[in-house]
Amino acid sequence: MPEMKNPLELYKLLNKSNCKKCMLPSCMAFSVAVIQGRKKISDCPELDEQTVEALSGRVATRASFEDEQRERLNNLKQEVARIDFVSVSDRIGGAAVKGGLAVNCLGKDFVIDAAGELTSECHKNLWVHVPLLNYIIHGTGKTLSGHWVPFNELQGAKDWSRFFSHRCEEDMKQLADAHTELFFEILSLFGAQPVGGMDADHSLTVYPLPKVPFMINYWEPEQGFESKLNILLDRVSPDNLAIGSIYLLGRGLVEMFRALIIRHNRDGKLF
Ligand code: SF4
Repeated sequence: MPEMKNPLELYKLLNKSNCKKCMLPSCMAFSVAVIQGRKKISDCPELDEQTVEALSGRVATRASFEDEQRERLNNLKQEVARIDFVSVSDRIGGAAVKGGLAVNCLGKDFVIDAAGELTSECHKNLWVHVPLLNYIIHGTGKTLSGHWVPFNELQGAKDWSRFFSHRCEEDMKQLADAHTELFFEILSLFGAQPVGGMDADHSLTVYPLPKVPFMINYWEPEQGFESKLNILLDRVSPDNLAIGSIYLLGRGLVEMFRALIIRHNRDGKLF
């Protein structure tokens, strides 16, 4: 039997019920997780034993995106060690503090020390740490234009827009659908400000980084209409943070919200 390297090959063999018993939101997310080595075939209880046995030997896991980002993080830590925090603080909207550089992320200070390590009272994750170091090292500090556009209209977004749509907007929508009240409470704890003049039920801006704001628009489900969520960005965002890192930042938000929802939701379940 040939090796299975593409998540779509596995997806075709699942029942596509999106029942979430594997603790992931969909059969597609499960297929990707298996190929990335984050889940085992046997984690889907809907597959019978024979199928699990037959498929397990065929999966060719590849270095996960997380592994690649970990390597990237180590390189960025070495680069940040050469940065003079006092000279970059104005450009990035941060402040040099004792022991490092403070950058306001979602209304809370995240402090980077000379070794590139991150300290914060917030939930920290790889998806935030990599963009934050990139922002400090490579951001140009361009003034925001006030012109909001969808991710796919940002310069250089072509290769990333599908990922942003699936892993940031769609995943965030699922959290908002399943835990609407808690989701918006968390956003408000993170300093989200309401925006007027939009046609969504909820329109809020948050600042994951001082010069890379996100506008989150959410339409609640109505009779005959599904819910909808989109994220708009300032047109100059790619000058302040590389486009791939804007995608990571979006994922960082989703991971952070997910961790908080699991912690604070009464039954401790995500869906
Ligand atoms: S448990 Fe299996 S069938 Fe259910 S969502 Fe996960 S992969 Fe799909």
